[in-house]
Amino acid sequence: MALFLDGLVIVGTLVLIASLVPIQRLIDKLPPGQVRRNWRILRALIFFFIAGYIWYTAGNWHNGGRSWEFIVAAIFCLGACFVFLVNTLSLQTTIDVRRVAAMELENITDPLMGINNRRYLDRRLKEEVERALRYNLPLSILLLDIDRFKRINDRYGHQVGDLVLKSLGKLIVSTVRTTDVVARYGGEEILIIATCTPVPPTPVFAERLRAAVENSVLVPQCALTQGEQVRVTVSVGVAFLGPGTADMAALVKSADDALYRAKREGRNRVVIDEGPTVA
Ligand code: GH3
Ligand code: MG
Ligand code: MG
Repeated sequence: MALFLDGLVIVGTLVLIASLVPIQRLIDKLPPGQVRRNWRILRALIFFFIAGYIWYTAGNWHNGGRSWEFIVAAIFCLGACFVFLVNTLSLQTTIDVRRVAAMELENITDPLMGINNRRYLDRRLKEEVERALRYNLPLSILLLDIDRFKRINDRYGHQVGDLVLKSLGKLIVSTVRTTDVVARYGGEEILIIATCTPVPPTPVFAERLRAAVENSVLVPQCALTQGEQVRVTVSVGVAFLGPGTADMAALVKSADDALYRAKREGRNRVVIDEGPTVA
């Protein structure tokens, strides 16, 4: 009987030691912060319990036999199993949550440009228009299209064209404010939702974006034959939420009209659509 009780506590000790593996993997997966600190405290407590189990086993070696000692040994063993299960389940939950978060991000991200995709844009633009109308907030959108992009593809190949799109996505995201929404609208068109931006600064902002693209080298030299340099320009159509553009479709149509005017007027420019005249 005494041997059996010693065995129960030893098994408990081994299970506690095994539970350090999932807790360590969990800590490695967590970002720095309070939650990681708390798991470290729990890990320290497990070390403390392991020492306690060893101390108890050494102090009671072959002493057991009474019924309450059986209960104590069983609690030691089951307690260790409980700790092991909690650690393992926490690790599995963390892995699952991270996987779901990654899938959600993938679902709303354009794989080539690394910015939001059309699915996210449609949802977000609808929300922003509703919010702006309800709280009477200013809202502008910028529709940006690369000038003569087909020529880039024809001249340098689609791989270089893709590199241009990738770099353009990064450049735009680094130029806008963090509260702005940047999304791929179509092939080589990007739509930016400038939330809470009053009408006057928006053309300045659009011009800053246009100039940033014009002055940037978007393709690394190593992707090109010696000495070549790919530069692109963009045309930008700007529209504001207003009486004649009081819904999502009308607002996008307004930006689209402005963009086509920018193309017609010679490209590499910003055109502001005043919106349809309301009778
Ligand atoms: P402009 O807008 O100045 O009128 O001329 P454009 O040549 O840019 O005209 P258009 O908008 O009609 O052509 C868009 C081109 O963009 C067509 C296609 O070759 C290219 N394109 C669209 N999506 C992709 C993509 O994912 N990768 C690459 N490499 N090219 C793309
Ligand atoms: Mg184009
Ligand atoms: Mg286009």
